[in-house]
Amino acid sequence: MTDDDGWVELREPDLDEEQTGPVPVVAVVGRPNVGKSTLVNRIIGRRQAVVEDVPGVTRDRVPYDAQWAGRQFTVVDTGGWEPDAKDRAAAIAAQAETAVATADVVLFVVDAVVGSTDVDEAAVRMLRRSAKPVILVANKADNAAVEVEATSLWSLGLGEPFAVSALHGRGSGELLDAIMEALPEAPKIVEDRPRGPRRVALVGRPNVGKSSLLNRFSGEERAVVDSVAGTTVDPVDSLVRIGGETWHLVDTAGLRKRVGKASGTEYYASLRTASAIEAAEVAVVLLDASEPISEQDQRILSMVTETGRALVIAFNKWDLVDGDRRYYLDKEIERELRRIPWAIRLNLSAMTGRAVDKLAPALRKALASWETRVPTAQLNSWLTALVQATPHPVRGGRAPKILFATQAGTCPPRFVLFTTAPLDAGYQRFVERKLREEFGFEGSPVEISVRPRK
Ligand code: GDP
Ligand code: GDP
Repeated sequence: MTDDDGWVELREPDLDEEQTGPVPVVAVVGRPNVGKSTLVNRIIGRRQAVVEDVPGVTRDRVPYDAQWAGRQFTVVDTGGWEPDAKDRAAAIAAQAETAVATADVVLFVVDAVVGSTDVDEAAVRMLRRSAKPVILVANKADNAAVEVEATSLWSLGLGEPFAVSALHGRGSGELLDAIMEALPEAPKIVEDRPRGPRRVALVGRPNVGKSSLLNRFSGEERAVVDSVAGTTVDPVDSLVRIGGETWHLVDTAGLRKRVGKASGTEYYASLRTASAIEAAEVAVVLLDASEPISEQDQRILSMVTETGRALVIAFNKWDLVDGDRRYYLDKEIERELRRIPWAIRLNLSAMTGRAVDKLAPALRKALASWETRVPTAQLNSWLTALVQATPHPVRGGRAPKILFATQAGTCPPRFVLFTTAPLDAGYQRFVERKLREEFGFEGSPVEISVRPRK
């Protein structure tokens, strides 16, 4: 595929965007012993073990990742109200309220052998007040006889009862189909990205040393040879060996084939930078370490974070940095790069070759962070401890509560916090900082959104 000088011309990258919407939530509610845990286990396919019921310990709002027919959603086992709670009606109300607050669809589970009880009817009244879709599950329909019996649950007024046996699996496919029908927006499971070199954008304002760095990896003469070649305006990508690995460098035509310094207006250059970043998975933003960090540098950095790409900042021309400059640069970094402390930083010199061998490991690390998926159970046990240790500050006598969190996607990692009310911006930043402390994400932006109960 490669010609003998190592370059390969690639077509415009086929962008396979991995943007997925938020993962919808399905809450499972019902009396104790109707088989909620068993049903949740059935839905998640026992890929994760549902927490055993420990007397006195609520398993309220334990979320699990689930998938069906190539789509993903979250199942929340809302636990059971205490069978002998003093104020059972209040307990039912509280549980139903939580379910309705956080769920896109509610599975209301009834024991088909027992039939509906007055407790069930009380719960139904709560659920029907909400606008959320409710699917009635008649569980323990282990055989045809109970299945027939289950039709009497129409009387609950929640529509057709889905007769299932959570224990044996009977009817569970139909139930899952019904759930998916109620969740048309459930995002598709993103296939593992196609094998192939990772896509990198090498960007930075004119004269920071992009061509020089590219030449480092490609041999000195190549750019010269290429500079006489045909058109220079078409976006052309290249495959380049860096650190023993082949990388797909996006839109290097301008860097390789440039004659002289003129590469169009700043407006044009900026469009081109934006489209290169868009097409890449990770961006290397080159800054000139010998000069102050400029507004143009900042704009390019913002393009990367706003596009949600992994980020490596390379301070080039490090050979020109003396003690004095180092002092001021440190101050500039502190002031100008405060909003992106998570970016991976390298001090290198395209001219002398200093630290250029650090680029490939930095890219790999940033991409690994970018693709990280935190299992929902792990995320929530961390979050529970965090909000216990540092609850949201009280505002006007009330403090918003975080009910649970899920990771809605990767590339970059995106999290959704389900809460009782909007969070203070400061507290949300605190959660993000702690999330990074716990799970890393070095070199990758992280998005956190809050879904307050409606
Ligand atoms: P939860 O309290 O609602 O979470 O109920 P569990 O999932 O803990 O189930 C309570 C009991 O009902 C357990 O002994 C289960 O094995 C049993 N169970 C659950 N689903 C079924 C089912 O479909 N058929 C039968 N026969 N038993 C079930
Ligand atoms: P580009 O416009 O970003 O592609 O920048 P070039 O690669 O054309 O470099 C601009 C100028 O900076 C050229 O004169 C390079 O020789 C010089 N240059 C690039 N990298 C370094 C470096 O690491 N140290 C020094 N001292 N000069 C460099």
